[in-house]
Amino acid sequence: MKAWELLNQLYFERVSGTDEETRAAHLIADALKDLGVEAVCEAFDVTRNQVQKASLEVLEPYQKTIEATAYMGCPDTDENGLELDLTYFESDTPVSRRKAEGKIALVNGYLGRKTYKALIEANAKAFISYNGNIDYPINDLDDRELRQPLQEIGNIPGVNILVNDAMELIEKKASKVRITTKQEVMPAHSHNVICELKGESDEWIVCTAHYDSVPNSKGVYDNATGAVCLYEMIKYFKDHPHKHNLRFIFCGSEERGLLGSKAYVEAHKEEMEKIKLNVNIDMIGSTMGRRIAVATSDMSLVHFTDYFAKIKGFPMECSQGVYSSDSTPFADAGVPAVSFARITTSGTGVIHCRYDVIERLNEAMLLEDIAFIQDYVEEMANAYVIPVVREMPDNMKEELDKYLGRKD
Ligand SMILES: [Zn+2]
Repeated sequence: MKAWELLNQLYFERVSGTDEETRAAHLIADALKDLGVEAVCEAFDVTRNQVQKASLEVLEPYQKTIEATAYMGCPDTDENGLELDLTYFESDTPVSRRKAEGKIALVNGYLGRKTYKALIEANAKAFISYNGNIDYPINDLDDRELRQPLQEIGNIPGVNILVNDAMELIEKKASKVRITTKQEVMPAHSHNVICELKGESDEWIVCTAHYDSVPNSKGVYDNATGAVCLYEMIKYFKDHPHKHNLRFIFCGSEERGLLGSKAYVEAHKEEMEKIKLNVNIDMIGSTMGRRIAVATSDMSLVHFTDYFAKIKGFPMECSQGVYSSDSTPFADAGVPAVSFARITTSGTGVIHCRYDVIERLNEAMLLEDIAFIQDYVEEMANAYVIPVVREMPDNMKEELDKYLGRKD
């Protein structure tokens, strides 16, 4: 199968813990079996929530019921809902904090760790986030989740609404609202699809890419493209000799906080020592974009990647850092990791909504990106010794602590 064909086959919503995500896992595994290689699906536990009630009602100075979804992982309100004054938490300042005390706070879009921590410290009683872009013709209301590390800071009810409703709350000076939520959390499964191609040494290079998507998105750029890159590399390396062992992991549930790669690292702790490098791919093949490589490692891998790209004539910005993708759990387990992406430029493509569509991608670009990454992996896979320094420098340990919420 051609890369572009597999990309088209994966062109459907693949949300963590759903039947559709499982369908995608089987589709990938079957495509690998058709290549004549073995593929193993490793299941891991996730949760799904079933929302029974989620509403936001404006009580003063006008009355209106607004469509809302409940944050998975948040506590329910009581039956009658939570009726309180509304405040707009525009940014984390002492003034906004004082205004949020004892109230329901509307935050700007996505609720990140910093904002959530500020709300808890300010003693806000509930929160409202929104998604969408007021300038898009259509926005879909997203399900949102208060992830485990945020729950540990404190746990208050929350709902998500659409951007146009959020703007109306501010325009019409909504001052009092009622939030009502009730949901049930149910167990579910997600899968990592794993394929190994043995070499002659006892050292491993592990290549990763997530194949799940967020709700309301077919997630083709983010990140069916990365999954297709792994597939193409397997197709190549199964017939091309490589000295060191290669393992390819199509990760599930990345979009919910790197759950697949975290589960993999946790279940394979004793193997980490033999993994010398993780190469992760998350979003390639965009028509316009800038190529980046982010290495969570010491600087020698950054320099190597930079030199390699220059030698190959491939424009690429190389830096040291923590990339928000499946490379991070590996790096956190001490495995030097490099993530490759072609980040879309302003106005040429978006992710995490219905507008992540195949029309924004380009087959030639995708093949170029794959060819480069494959060259890079081949260089390492045939190294006399894998030269990567297997020690995480202090500045990266610190960044990992911050990213994973262990430090502020
Ligand atoms: Zn992604």
